[in-house]
Amino acid sequence: MTEDIRKFLFEEYSKIFVNSEKFRLFFAPGRINVVGEHTDYTGGYCMPAGISAGTFVLVKPNSSAEFNAFSINFPDKILKVDISSNQIKENNWGDYLKGVLVELAADGYKIDRGFDGVVYGNIPNGSGLSSSASLEMSLILAILGINGYNIPENGSKEMIKLTLCAQRAENNFVGVKCGILDQFAIGNAKENRVIKMKCDTLDFKYSPINLKDKTIIIMNTNKKRRLEESKYNERRSECERGFEILKNYGIKKTALGDVTIGEWNELKSKVKSADEIIYRRLNHVVGENDRVLRAFESLQNDDLSRLARLINESGDSLKTDFEVTGDYLDAIVEAARSTSGVIAARMTGAGFGGCAIAIAQKDDLDKIKLEISQKYQKSTGIAPEFYNYDISDGAREIEI
Ligand code: ADP
Ligand code: MG
Repeated sequence: MTEDIRKFLFEEYSKIFVNSEKFRLFFAPGRINVVGEHTDYTGGYCMPAGISAGTFVLVKPNSSAEFNAFSINFPDKILKVDISSNQIKENNWGDYLKGVLVELAADGYKIDRGFDGVVYGNIPNGSGLSSSASLEMSLILAILGINGYNIPENGSKEMIKLTLCAQRAENNFVGVKCGILDQFAIGNAKENRVIKMKCDTLDFKYSPINLKDKTIIIMNTNKKRRLEESKYNERRSECERGFEILKNYGIKKTALGDVTIGEWNELKSKVKSADEIIYRRLNHVVGENDRVLRAFESLQNDDLSRLARLINESGDSLKTDFEVTGDYLDAIVEAARSTSGVIAARMTGAGFGGCAIAIAQKDDLDKIKLEISQKYQKSTGIAPEFYNYDISDGAREIEI
């Protein structure tokens, strides 16, 4: 169906039916994390932003208690979910819909009206830009919207409550033990802003991000994240052990993410002689939390070169201290950093494959991508992919 026909149908439709029966379109972005990697589960700081790619949900309320949902990305069948029945996990994308319905009900939202809806996501598959949280948040808004609830503002208390609901859906129903970073970022993002967030208290603040003649590019290594899960769990338990060690040395904090760089500097040589591996893990986490604070400050001061330095430092720390990069991420970061017009590059996400980000000169982008691509292919034999998005608002309704 062409765009013109779609528009025409919507126009004709809305002339005939009253407001409540109109089609409604909801959107939730994907997210990037500018700095603050592997800090969320320590209760530390992250600095995410919403991107212009995300998940669209076009819905029309139906007069039943049934959700009929079709995903253009997973077009095998129309999923049917009855609100009033006991939700059973089926290991398809409908689990996200069921999960958010269960958690919305647990939070006291009264959902008794279903929809006929189409879902479409334009976040590249497996790129680590959080298509799952984007799906959850767009579904939540669509469900609430057609059940008569107002759509909360990005950054409002109500929106934060919904992001927690989405996280619980993914933790409890889908069965993925993710932190709050993705949902929080996607619910609360704002155009041309980053969010500095503390992952345990959910204190947060926005800063403008003005990249001037530069832009953020996302570079997909196209290497599947194979070791990701086991190494992720290993790092989490290393951080827990490290925090216990710090407590034995007299640190009195409720979370590892609260340990300051000053406190760490006092203790790090002791930790290093006791356990070299734990030393390196803690050196990353405490340093990374501090880098988020400094990166946020540098954005507030419009100091792009300081931000670039911090992104590079973050990347080095993830490679050498936290050891979550691997050959492919190392190769693409190296290719980017050695290309003129690129001022910073680092891996992003959990690591061991997936994507890296770079800050690159806007008007030279094609040349820059080509050069990175050639260097990366030469060392790995794999062709990378590049994405370039605007920094965009969080989950919202789109006027149609
Ligand atoms: P990501 O890092 O992108 O969040 P996940 O593995 O956590 O990766 O989530 C991907 C899953 O989310 C998909 O396998 C699918 O079940 C669901 N999903 C994401 N986008 C869509 C979509 N547009 N339509 C249906 N399901 C989707
Ligand atoms: Mg996910």
